[in-house]
Amino acid sequence: MTDEFTTQVYYEDDVDESYLEDTTVAVLGYGSQGHAHALNMQESGIDVRVGLREDSSSRAAAEEEGLEVGTPAEVAQVAEVISVLVPDTVQSAVYEEIEPHLEDGDTLQFAHGLNIHYNQIQPPEHVDVTMVAPKSPGHLVRRNYENDQGTPGLLAVYQDTTGEATERGLAYAKAIGCARAGVLETTFQEEVETDLFGEQVVLCGGVTSLVKAGYETLVDAGYSPEAAYFECMNELKLIVDLMYEGGLSEMWDSVSDTAEYGGLTRGDRVIDDNARENMEEILEEVQSGEFAGEWIAENQVGRPKYTQIRQAEKDHEIEEVGERLRGLFAWADEQEEKPAEAPA
Ligand code: NAD
Ligand code: MG
Ligand code: MG
Ligand code: MG
Ligand code: MG
Repeated sequence: MTDEFTTQVYYEDDVDESYLEDTTVAVLGYGSQGHAHALNMQESGIDVRVGLREDSSSRAAAEEEGLEVGTPAEVAQVAEVISVLVPDTVQSAVYEEIEPHLEDGDTLQFAHGLNIHYNQIQPPEHVDVTMVAPKSPGHLVRRNYENDQGTPGLLAVYQDTTGEATERGLAYAKAIGCARAGVLETTFQEEVETDLFGEQVVLCGGVTSLVKAGYETLVDAGYSPEAAYFECMNELKLIVDLMYEGGLSEMWDSVSDTAEYGGLTRGDRVIDDNARENMEEILEEVQSGEFAGEWIAENQVGRPKYTQIRQAEKDHEIEEVGERLRGLFAWADEQEEKPAEAPA
């Protein structure tokens, strides 16, 4: 443990892996996170079962890796730790199938707190409820583990019946490789609210709207779509890479003085007080549960709005221009590994 941070951070030396000895872990789902948790734990010497529907196309893939597969109910019955890694929107339905198999002292484990925090899943009092959430897409969680590296993760305890929930969560985090990089203590509330806010305002929503607005402003002013694409979308990767490696300072140091002066004097005019007020409003919708309610209702009626806005985004002119231009430098794909999928 270290107290250089405002929050508790655990590393491998802080973990007692005996908390998962003689324990069977059921991983429900074999998607992005599911395959990574199951395979990493299997290699860490843990008895893992994978829970999938009878007709799941992922069954063959899991079995090919030597994993034992059953239905969610079957694997929940034999396991003491049940890790819920099916998509957030189907978790409450899958939970119905496994609830009868939750025994005293079992652990219900998540990688995102949405369904617990917004009461879509209400676990019984006789189980521990934990979250180990790697801060990266599942494919990187797997690749890092294979390369003897780790993926930073979050640990939260929602319900601690056994008095050992933290220790068990840490043992789980170590088994999937997170403790190699650091496990930060948080709460279900903080994880959910910051995750939703971040993806809506900055990572997914904010950045795409910024790119589209910049692109449209240039094209509407008569500049070529190609020039607009390069300036507003393509170069973004180079800027983000610099920030990822060395923070804002490394980015500012690497661009020209002209870019630095222009950016520092103009950035706050784009993200102005009005934009900040909108951010606060979006945060309130997250905190109040208004966003979660909207998303749950949208799923209940078959996702009509989601389907429509998703298509409109695919049809945006910048997508067509980008596809043509990226074809010209297809070599970029070969030199650089494709990024794994986006924040979840
Ligand atoms: P996913 O969509 O990649 O995979 C889900 C898997 O669940 C599918 O591959 C399938 O095997 C199975 N599945 C789907 N519907 C099912 C059903 N009705 N019954 C049984 N199995 C079913 O999911 P994911 O992105 O790995 O997300 C899993 C959890 O991890 C979520 O809580 C998510 O928020 C969290 N999380 C994801 C990421 C990420 O990088 N994708 C990162 C951190 C946390
Ligand atoms: Mg059980
Ligand atoms: Mg430029
Ligand atoms: Mg320049
Ligand atoms: Mg998310």
